[in-house]
Amino acid sequence: MTPTVVIVGAGFGGLRAARALARSPVRVVLLDRHNYHLFQPLLYQVAMAGLEPSSIARPVRRILRGQRNLEFRMAEVTGIDRGARRVRTSAGDVPYDHLILAPGGRTNFFGVESAARNGLGLKSVDDAVAVRNHVLTCFEQALLEPDPDRRRALLTFVVVGGGPTGVEMAGALAELIRLVLARDTPALHVPDVRVLLLEAGPRLLTAMRPRLSDATARMLRRKHVEVRLETAVAGYDGARAQLAGGEMTPARTLIWAAGVEAVPVAAMLGVAPARQGRVAVTPALRLPDDERVSVIGDAAYLEVGGAPLPMLAPVALQMADAAARNVRLALAGRPPRPFAYRDPGTLATIGRNAAVADIHGVAFQGFPAWVVWLVVHILQLIGFRNRLFVLLDWAWDYFFYDRSARLITRE
Ligand SMILES: Cc1cc2nc3c(=O)[nH]c(=O)nc-3n(C[C@H](O)[C@H](O)[C@H](O)COP(=O)(O)OP(=O)(O)OC[C@H]3O[C@@H](n4cnc5c(N)ncnc54)[C@H](O)[C@@H]3O)c2cc1C
Repeated sequence: MTPTVVIVGAGFGGLRAARALARSPVRVVLLDRHNYHLFQPLLYQVAMAGLEPSSIARPVRRILRGQRNLEFRMAEVTGIDRGARRVRTSAGDVPYDHLILAPGGRTNFFGVESAARNGLGLKSVDDAVAVRNHVLTCFEQALLEPDPDRRRALLTFVVVGGGPTGVEMAGALAELIRLVLARDTPALHVPDVRVLLLEAGPRLLTAMRPRLSDATARMLRRKHVEVRLETAVAGYDGARAQLAGGEMTPARTLIWAAGVEAVPVAAMLGVAPARQGRVAVTPALRLPDDERVSVIGDAAYLEVGGAPLPMLAPVALQMADAAARNVRLALAGRPPRPFAYRDPGTLATIGRNAAVADIHGVAFQGFPAWVVWLVVHILQLIGFRNRLFVLLDWAWDYFFYDRSARLITRE
């Protein structure tokens, strides 16, 4: 009988693994709670009204149309019975011979419960649309608010976390308000607007070299973002952000971009979670006590050279290829090969004409880095339609100082 490979998650890792098994003598069952693949690196642009969700997401069935050995099921995975080799889902059990888990991560609020309750995360399409609605609503309410203190709070936007997502979000937010909304709204008193980027550590973008961190802070400040380092957020009640030293900042918006953790897949597998809730895997990306189960992407914990691999798309993609290859080797009765990561470099954009890049030992910034960022993101998007629409939206917004998706679609 044809062996069944079940893949959980149609994100970067799961989708790539499914494609990598297209020509293998296996039946692939791909499971995801959504019917689309989401390009998370551009989520912040949906949140900042630059792109529509449909430009960065694509139906899984469309992507995998024509892959004859694949069956997609939209279902929530609720458990894994390793003894019986079955995945439990909202649509019934799915038996497997080999299981590749790529369920990704979720926002990590580091125990700041009030921020989880009252702040906004950025991990899904719903999150991004919620941020967009909230920010645009605050802006409209501020224009009608006679009380100056309440108006300033409506126009104060706190972004927590100085990693790539926080940096990109803060830069895009500052530009949305100063370059787009302010032009359409003569009544807006621009000095009332504050965008704060709060980072608990001593510098932004810690994965990059310090001189790029400094350049990023400089570029953000030029865009009127208040960058505050060594400033942790201790709480947020929806009206005021409490900083670790006790300082209170009135703000009706707090966007949490400070961290990610794995979805709770370790509990489903009955193993102790490693750091960030991830699942420790062997160099062959398998569970140490179960060679039929591989974990890849954000959910997998693997140290290389003494440091854990980061929760980034290239890691998930490369792990997917390696896991698929090891499934093929297992079916041929051969031992698995260890995973070797090739770091393609790091990029972050700060806004128009401004980005930083650290690629293969070469660090650069400003306009050249921004062009590289644009090209890389267009090429990585799945589907010609999405590439074309994103390119058109970006060109329109660049030349006409607009944001095409500036709709409030929900309170
Ligand atoms: C805002 C943001 C910006 C980012 N920017 C960058 C960037 O610029 N560069 C970069 O390299 N990386 C970036 N990342 C990280 C990158 O997106 C992740 O590293 C990558 O998506 C991990 O791939 P994955 O396959 O492990 O998980 P994901 O791509 O997250 O896919 C997981 C899939 O599993 C599904 N799933 C989860 N649980 C279940 C369940 N119980 N049942 C059914 N389905 C389930 C989800 O619906 C999802 O489709 C960013 C992430 C975010 C959130």
